[in-house]
Order: sequence, then C-alpha cells, then structure tokens
Amino acid sequence: MAKTYTVAKGDTLGKIARAQLGDAKLAVMLADFNGLPDLNQIFVGQRILLPTAKEQRPTAAAPAAPRAAVAWPAPPHGFQAVRDTFGDILAYLADDGGIDPKWEAERITRAALPFPIPLAWNTAQNATAIRCHKLLAPLLEEVFRQIESQGLKGAVRTYGGGYVFRPKRNGVKPSTHSWGIAIDLNPNTNAMGSAGDMDPRLVALFEEHGFTWGGRWSGGNKDPMHFQYCSGY
Ligand SMILES: [Zn+2]
Repeated sequence: MAKTYTVAKGDTLGKIARAQLGDAKLAVMLADFNGLPDLNQIFVGQRILLPTAKEQRPTAAAPAAPRAAVAWPAPPHGFQAVRDTFGDILAYLADDGGIDPKWEAERITRAALPFPIPLAWNTAQNATAIRCHKLLAPLLEEVFRQIESQGLKGAVRTYGGGYVFRPKRNGVKPSTHSWGIAIDLNPNTNAMGSAGDMDPRLVALFEEHGFTWGGRWSGGNKDPMHFQYCSGY
C-alpha cells in the first residue's frame, strides 16, 4: 500500500522525491505514478502517493510509454527547421562543392538492420546497416524491426542508399540524404517521376513514424523510392 505525502509550501516534486524516496531523479516516476501531466503541476495541500520500492519498478518500465517521445526528435518542417534539428550543413560545405569530413564524423552513424537487404546496385551483396543521422538511428532501427515483425520483409527488395552527400537532384539545395535523414528503397522499380510499386503497407508504416514519402509528390518530383524524415523540403 502506497504511503502519501501532503505537499507543503516551497515543495517541488524533485524535493519530495529526494526527501521521501532518496533520489530527486525519481520525480519523473513520481509524477507518472500520480498521473500528473507535468512535474510542475503540484499545489500546497495536494496528497502525493509515494510508491514502495517494489511499486516503483513496473511504473518506471511502463510498456505503454511511447518510445518516440524521448528517443528521437519530431520530424522538422522546412529547410530552417531541418538545419535546426539535424545540423547546419551549409557550414560544412567546402569551396569545391564537397563536404567537410567533420560533418560525417559529427553527425552520421549506422543503424543496424534486423535483416539484410540486397544492394540495388549489386544484389549479390547485402546492406546490413543504414548510414544515417545519429539522431535518427534509433527510429530507423525501430521502423525496420516493425517491418520484420509485421511480415513486410518481402516488400523491401533492394536498398538504394541512406546518407550520401549530394545536391538535391533538381536544384542547388542539398538533398535530405545529405543529412542522413532519407532512405531509398526498391529503386529499380520506383524511378523518379514514375508511380512505382511501393507496397502501401510499407508507406503507411513509414508515415506512421513521421516520414514523408516521395511517392506523394507530384509530376517530375514524384520519387516513390524515397522516404525522408522531414516535410516541406
Ligand atoms: Zn532518396
């Protein structure tokens, strides 16, 4: 049975957590245990339930908690927001049009794939990871875990690339691939400007996770192989 504590003047959940549970960092768990929407919403006289050590554990590991809220940023909208979220790539452009190696060192990593995907340009070889932005790796790993668990592995036939520094094909702005926030799948049957044959279940899964699908763009911009983690750019 949980004990209770009555909030006094000057209390914060952090103070209460430290005094009653021995650790100020348990304030988040305490808010969650009491169903408080945020840490600052307490008032004098309010009764706060104090979980026992045993009760603290399942709450801390609540399976219903959305992982997305803490594990990766929300998809940015527009060029400025992409730079704010994933880095100012223009500051890394070299005079010859190339990219400073520091960009890759600071921003780019590899997201492990739960199953290998044949390379579009050499199907005898497989991709076992996706080169992508460091902030996006946990999300990509999650999406591909779900592709596997939902039985959609067969819809991913070839891998066309993730991070690659290149200007946007039809313009001077850098492509979202340059930030490592875009991936191309099944490029052989999903050429730019075509309707392509991307499995709608795959599209739905990516879109549920905040990705924009290039197959929704119109005319010559239509890019059905392409998924990117931003909109308006
Ligand atoms: Zn692409």
